[in-house]
Amino acid sequence: MKMRLLGKTPDELKEIAVEAGLPAFAGKQMAQWLYQKRVRSIEEITNLSKQGREALAQRYEVGLIEPIDVQTSQDGTRKYLFPHQDLDFEAVMIPDEDRRTLCVSSQAGCKMGCKFCMTGRQGFHGNLEPAQILSQYFAIEEAGELTNTVFMGMGEPLDNWVTVKRVIDILTAPWGLAWSPKRITLSTIGVLPNLKRYLDESRCHLAVSLHNPFPEEREEMMPVQKAWSVTEVVRLIKQYDFTGQRRVSFEYTIFHGWNDTPRHAEELVRLLRHLECRVNLIRFHRIPDFPYGPAQQREMEAFRVFLQEGGITATIRASRGEDIFAACGLLAGKHQEK
Ligand code: SF4
Repeated sequence: MKMRLLGKTPDELKEIAVEAGLPAFAGKQMAQWLYQKRVRSIEEITNLSKQGREALAQRYEVGLIEPIDVQTSQDGTRKYLFPHQDLDFEAVMIPDEDRRTLCVSSQAGCKMGCKFCMTGRQGFHGNLEPAQILSQYFAIEEAGELTNTVFMGMGEPLDNWVTVKRVIDILTAPWGLAWSPKRITLSTIGVLPNLKRYLDESRCHLAVSLHNPFPEEREEMMPVQKAWSVTEVVRLIKQYDFTGQRRVSFEYTIFHGWNDTPRHAEELVRLLRHLECRVNLIRFHRIPDFPYGPAQQREMEAFRVFLQEGGITATIRASRGEDIFAACGLLAGKHQEK
């Protein structure tokens, strides 16, 4: 099997170039062709000699993976399905006025087992490799138009941190896509040791899936709570500065009868006190064999007002792509359609 060039850094590409008999500076050129011109094959790297390209192609390929299906929602949201040997993975492109945000997957399935999430129900089928994550940016129709990205698709990105870090480096490096870190948000349920690394090693925004401020109740739906409590997660976050360019938000899906009472709102205000942040209230999308349903709009509004009065900026997030199962918690690869 050939090795993939996509996902390599200029230093790594330099070694590969030299090994193929090309000059060392070809490494930098290859990075430009891969990440800026988004070539699909080694033959397209036309400023390398024909001989050099042939030598490279003996052991390497670009490694771009093409989507095998795309669905378009009534609201313009598009869901792309990418092939994987065990569980296909999905990327969702969300258009909003002049923004094009890509929600990417970092794993095939997920091992975190959150009970309200279709991806969690599929189990874990492997970490995605750099080329598999980068293909979600490069192989879609909107590749040249993307303005923002969120690591909020299938998988827990901090459970695949080394690869996700490499992808973030490629997105932000001058030799890569040269994006500002402000265009990138990583969403986590709070994998504490890697959360610290993310906060130390990147300048991108953070979103935390919180869903319940009471540890014992959160644990009922989110097994991660047993290993890393939400209290410790918030304590860690409070050690970092979110008063400038970098932002932190908390995702709070409202389930009728589980986490929608004034008692919950009050505890949330207490937990997030003295932290410059935003809470995004998300409407739950009903899934099979799950005891709770979505809250009414007026209940969500009451919850939002309660937070707001407690000094926390809170918004009810518009749900996108529901008709194509592209909304939060609904991504499940090809199994969902079955
Ligand atoms: Fe995994 Fe996120 Fe789903 Fe939890 S909500 S099971 S972390 S994909």
